[in-house]
Amino acid sequence: MKKQAIITLDLEGVLVPEIWIAVAEKTGIPELRRTTRDEPDYDKLMRGRLEILDRHGLKLSDIQNVIATLSPLPGGREFLDELRTLSQVLILSDTFEQFAQPLMRQLNWPTLLCHRLIVENDRIVDYQIRTPEQKQKAVAALKAMNYRVIAAGDSFNDTTMLGEAETGFLFHAPQNVIDRFPQFRAFDTYEQLLAAFKAEL
Ligand SMILES: [Mg+2]
Repeated sequence: MKKQAIITLDLEGVLVPEIWIAVAEKTGIPELRRTTRDEPDYDKLMRGRLEILDRHGLKLSDIQNVIATLSPLPGGREFLDELRTLSQVLILSDTFEQFAQPLMRQLNWPTLLCHRLIVENDRIVDYQIRTPEQKQKAVAALKAMNYRVIAAGDSFNDTTMLGEAETGFLFHAPQNVIDRFPQFRAFDTYEQLLAAFKAEL
């Protein structure tokens, strides 16, 4: 008999747009478009982002108001709703709970494990990575509880999660990620991804 299964999903690029890129566009601050592809040192990248927000006088509530104007990717909400009727689903993201909140509302409040911003009087003063490599660690912890984990994500920061899972899928992944990780099947539509999950459950 098959073990019980559980699904872990990345958030940005899979269910919702890339939050920092959307914030850069909506606020008209192009420097906020920088990602780990431009600055591989994540701490340096985040410190730079917080400094830019300060320079423009942007508080947490301003950013949350911008994020609240974003929508999940077309079909994302319906996909997640259907998936949650088939299996328990955990969303594992490297975003921050305060940024994710306006989007979680639109996704019907799924379970999200992510990091946290340190906020004083609405000013984002710092950030706190709960634990490094949390996506992979979460999958390993679920396996230790005798779950069979099926995972999907779109980018480099998901590949250790996909590798730790019994089955990992790439979704909406850029070609360089697909080429570098041929062991993960890659899909581009929710219909395909849902069918792939169903086949593994
Ligand atoms: Mg992503």
